[in-house]
Amino acid sequence: MPVSLKPAPLSFYEKRLRSLIRLLGPSEGLLVTSMTNVRYLSGFTGSSGFLLIAKAGMAFATDFRYKEQAGKEVSGWDIVMEKNRMDTLKRLSRRFGLKCLRFEPAVPYEFWGRLKALGLELRPARAAVERLREKKDSLEMDSIKEAVRRAESAFLDVLPYIRTGASEISIALRLEEALKKKGSNLIPFGIIVASGPNSAMPHARATERRLAPGDLVVVDWGGEAGGYFSDMTRTLLVKGPMAGKKREIYGIVLEAQRKAISAVSCGVPAREIDNSARDIIKRAGYGSFFGHGVGHGVGLEVHERPGISGKARGRIEEAMVFTIEPGIYVPGLGGVRIEDMVVVRKKGAGLLTTLPRGLKIVSPK
Ligand code: ZN
Ligand code: ZN
Repeated sequence: MPVSLKPAPLSFYEKRLRSLIRLLGPSEGLLVTSMTNVRYLSGFTGSSGFLLIAKAGMAFATDFRYKEQAGKEVSGWDIVMEKNRMDTLKRLSRRFGLKCLRFEPAVPYEFWGRLKALGLELRPARAAVERLREKKDSLEMDSIKEAVRRAESAFLDVLPYIRTGASEISIALRLEEALKKKGSNLIPFGIIVASGPNSAMPHARATERRLAPGDLVVVDWGGEAGGYFSDMTRTLLVKGPMAGKKREIYGIVLEAQRKAISAVSCGVPAREIDNSARDIIKRAGYGSFFGHGVGHGVGLEVHERPGISGKARGRIEEAMVFTIEPGIYVPGLGGVRIEDMVVVRKKGAGLLTTLPRGLKIVSPK
């Protein structure tokens, strides 16, 4: 049975907001227009609205379609109904005595142009809210763990159907159905079932191709709970030609993943986690077959901060949640990716995903 998750109590939102307000000057306002960030800070799950946060006050604005929903989901905010966003912003900025407005990185150029007409100084807010979202609190962890549980339980239900003759699409559809039955209202991304030569493409989608003897089969999927996502990958092998080579590749990826997981600890630069996996793959002679970063944050979005790649500049902090997903993709032969989710604890990585990581062999019948 899916666990029902309660919305976060007010105190969780207050904590998030306090950290943001601390960053603001006395006559500065933060305009939050990313709906993911609006949800993170207010609990509102609708698709239109904004937040204006300042030392002098805070307002949540949405339009009449969401009046009832906002009343239920949002508390502790001054709720404003907007007809014209610029008029509402002008009124609120005056009320809060703002001279400067900080805007989010993904603001469209057209909207930025209209903001300019407000006559306030405009400054980028950089990724202030996204940076807060990197570290998960206990309530977020409950949702993420449930999203993992739903994903894993759905996969186990579908496992018997992963066999020769089944098409990639039919497996993906069964998995999607199972995820919904487990309680995931949202499917975080198009499920990848990539078999045989298709598995050599890291971002392949499910096709009509049917599984055949000797196939490596990459399955990359995730679940959802309380708006939070999970993301994981397992690679299976259908008994058949070139099995030795494919087992060898699997072994290298697994060793690289173990190394990367054991490299996770508070204070370590994110790029070192990537390096530790990459070194193993390079030394085994497959360096040019591992083209993507080793991991990414997961939360209200499937891909969020922190990025765990060779280019990452940040350090790992306690309570961050991210994937570790090295892979080797050999055109013509096939690919292997193993993806798990970890949470950073004081003494290293805690694994959130629990399905066995050894190579699962499927007999061809
Ligand atoms: Zn994935
Ligand atoms: Zn991923």
